[in-house]
Order: sequence, then C-alpha cells, then structure tokens
Amino acid sequence: MHGQILDGKATARVITQKLASEIVTLAPKVARPPSLATVLIGDDPASHTYVQMKINRCKQVGIETRKIDLPATTTTEEAVAAVRSLSEDPAVDGILVQHPAPPAVDEAAVFAAIEPAKDVDGVTSDSLAAMAFDEYGFRSATPGGIMRLLEHYGIEMKGRHAVVVGRSRILGIPMGLLLLAQNATVTYCHSRTSGLQTKISQADLVVAATGRPELVKGSWIKEGAVVVDAGYSDMTGDVEYDSAAKRASWITPVPGGVGPMTIACLLEQTVEAHKRLNGLL
Ligand code: NAP
Repeated sequence: MHGQILDGKATARVITQKLASEIVTLAPKVARPPSLATVLIGDDPASHTYVQMKINRCKQVGIETRKIDLPATTTTEEAVAAVRSLSEDPAVDGILVQHPAPPAVDEAAVFAAIEPAKDVDGVTSDSLAAMAFDEYGFRSATPGGIMRLLEHYGIEMKGRHAVVVGRSRILGIPMGLLLLAQNATVTYCHSRTSGLQTKISQADLVVAATGRPELVKGSWIKEGAVVVDAGYSDMTGDVEYDSAAKRASWITPVPGGVGPMTIACLLEQTVEAHKRLNGLL
C-alpha cells in the first residue's frame, strides 16, 4: 500500500476561496468587514512567523486584522488586561492569543480573558466544554482543521480506534474530544505513556502532536491506517514520513498538511463570529 496524500494546502485553498466570496456578500449587510485581533507575547521567532502567516491569509480573504505584540517582560495581569479590552471592543470579532506564551505568563489565565463568542482559536474552557459535549462552540483551530481535512476526504471515524499522541490544551486534548464526538474510540498517549509503539500499531487513525521529530516510526503504523502529523519542529514532523506512507492508506505531508488547515479553520471561525456578533446567524 502507498498512502494517498491528505492535501491540506489544496483543501485550505478551497475553504478560503469560499470565505473570500462570502465576505464580499456580507459587505452590504454589515458596516465593517470581519476582524481578527492577534495577541503575541514575547519574541519567539516561530510564533512571529505563525502570526504573520495568519495575518497574511486574513488579508487575502478580506478579514481585517489588529496586531497586538507584547514584550517578553509582559506580566500575566498586563496580558489579561490587553485581551479583556479586545473582548469588550465591538470592532473585534475574533481574538487569537498565540501559543505558547512565555513561561512567566499564565497562559490559561490569558485564554480565560477571551470572550467565548470571540474565541475563534478555540482555547477557552467554554470552547473545550463545547467540544467535549458536542455542543455549539468554536473548535480549537488545529484539531478543527484536522477534522475538516478528514471530512473533505470522506474519512469516517465512527467505530474506529484513534490514537492521539500529545495532550496539550490547544491540540491533543481537543483533538481527542472532537474524534470522540464523531464516535471514534480514543486513546490518548503522552510523555509518560508506556508501550507507545504497541498502542500506535493498533490504531486506525494516528494523530501525532508532540513536536518530537520522527518520534513515530513508519514500521509502527498499522497497514491501512490514516496518519495525521500535526508536529512541526526543526522543519520536521512527528512521523517518519517515507516509511509510514508505505503502510498508511492516507497521510498528511509536512509541510502542507495540518498547518494550512489550522489557518483555514481560524479564518472560517472568525467569519462565523462576525456573522453571529452582527445578528446574521
Ligand atoms: P506541547 O504543548 O509541547 O505538547 C506536546 C505533547 O506531546 C505533550 O502532551 C507531551 O506529553 C507529548 N509528548 C512529548 N514527548 C512525548 C513522547 N516522547 N511520547 C509521547 N508523547 C510525548 O506541544 P503542542 O503545542 O501541542 O504542539 C505539538 C506539535 O504540534 C509541535 O510540533 C507544534 O509545533 C505543532 N503544532 C502545529 C500546528 C499547526 O498548525 N500545524 C499548530 C499547533 C502546534 P506530556 O503532556 O506528558 O508532557
């Protein structure tokens, strides 16, 4: 078997083209275009690149952006105050707080300052609860983008065994919740999991989300499994791509798989927030 490509770049392009057309049709109904505020704390170069990529994509589809860059010396209280003010600003539809915040900042407290109706990156406790209970709410952008990618290729998760490697608040945990809501049987693995290889070898779907380059060996993948690699560290994914592709039925490339879908999900949810906040939904 040789895995077919889950092409996140092409799928994201389809989604963002639709969004651009929709934004044009919204213009006569609302006084201003959709708007996303980005909050970046500190000077991590990768985070700066990710935020800029999101801003660029927003501009391409017609979403306005407001960029708030806070210095590495920012306290939790200062970051919370900045996010609260965006939560209260009627000209802002969506708020993205780029993860990770510097270690001295209590990221959970900053996330908690996001008004849930503007949580287009799906990081608040309200959004996590909505994903857990399959209620209305915004999805965490990376797991949300992965679900959109699987839907796009008609990959059903009902009754299948999904192994999620990683349990971060923004990725691993919500990933498992969304898969559970689609009636998959979910196993979470993390740094203290024993027998990782055995668990992965039993999976119909593997989502690797650790940031440990090539942690998942191709030989561990069950023949015909679906492999989603969310990791990106030193330009490398979490999965040994070439050998995994020989066993998988479907596989995401790195780059060009999960990354573009994360941005597409963020943009889609920003437009949705805009419509809701302006009484169009
Ligand atoms: P994170 O907060 O550092 O979490 C990493 C997770 O991996 C933790 O749950 C950790 O377990 C687990 N882990 C670490 N080493 C492990 C090992 N040897 N075996 C099993 N599990 C292990 O990272 P994150 O923010 O979730 O991001 C994960 C990766 O996804 C990174 O490469 C990041 O760049 C990438 N990412 C990509 C996108 C995108 O749009 N493409 C978006 C977000 C993140 P413990 O909980 O036990 O520590």
